[in-house]
Amino acid sequence: MSAQILDGLALSRIVRESLKVRVDALREKGIIPRLDVLVAAQDPASLAYVKMKHTWAAKAGMQGESYDVTADTTQQQLIDKIGELNANPLVHGILLQHPLPAHLDEQEALIALGAEKDVDGIAPQSLGRLVADLPGFRCATPLGIMKILEHYQIPIQGKRVVVIGRSVILGKPAALMLLQKHATVTIAHSRTVDLPDLCREADILVAAVGRAEMVKGDWVKPGAVVIDAGYNKVEGRKGDVGDVEFESASQVASWITPVPGGVGPMTVASLLSNAVESAEKTLA
Ligand code: NAP
Repeated sequence: MSAQILDGLALSRIVRESLKVRVDALREKGIIPRLDVLVAAQDPASLAYVKMKHTWAAKAGMQGESYDVTADTTQQQLIDKIGELNANPLVHGILLQHPLPAHLDEQEALIALGAEKDVDGIAPQSLGRLVADLPGFRCATPLGIMKILEHYQIPIQGKRVVVIGRSVILGKPAALMLLQKHATVTIAHSRTVDLPDLCREADILVAAVGRAEMVKGDWVKPGAVVIDAGYNKVEGRKGDVGDVEFESASQVASWITPVPGGVGPMTVASLLSNAVESAEKTLA
């Protein structure tokens, strides 16, 4: 292996240590940062993610409640709950853990959430602020990616970036954040032609696809930086598998994020950091 590891887990520990200091300072002023979560009660993966988020939040001294969203929850009940949490001054961040049960309209719920407590940065109002270069909470996963690049002092300005994936929570905002740092960005998707050739042009390649090990080593330009946001379950294999074939890509890249231990931990750290920032704003 020639690539150096972009260690998101180690960086997340640094971020979480710094959060403890910020949380202690808030507690001295009588404010306990609180992140509440609405989660589909029948989705074991979502419940596991939420449990991890609450555990890390508690370790940083934060508080948080979870509310079950079930097959019986109506759209109106969901909107009412979001309204109640938005009106509660003790709640600083609200997370709608994706996916919610299929009968519910997530976008309508996110619009009801608005930007103020949207610490996951995925409400249309938050995304609009990103597009407009206005301050606001940025989507946790792309924010985690940006923090990794910043920490490891990976140059972005003027670099050619290919982001594979155009989802609202990951590919698109990642592309916009990289554009803000003056990269020249191409967004690829399922209908992109000659994807491997396109990827070989990238100085920084971001995979946000949801297809296990789709990106092979020979898609990577020698010396490129590879960010693998993918988390995929593969039958017969333990744990999560990235969108990049680590074995071959790490022979060619200069830097690469592992899965697990790359983008995932920095997503949670960035979410909690946004929630603490939201609590800090109440002092302003
Ligand atoms: P998504 O909403 O399913 O979007 C996937 C994107 O990949 C779509 O834009 C799709 O294109 C594109 N795509 C699918 N197949 C393709 C192909 N063969 N060639 C090129 N593009 C293709 O997924 P997501 O929510 O963005 O998540 C992507 C991955 O990141 C998943 O593995 C997910 O588990 C992971 N994830 C990780 C974190 C984290 O904390 N690390 C957070 C969120 C998600 P079209 O738009 O044309 O369909």
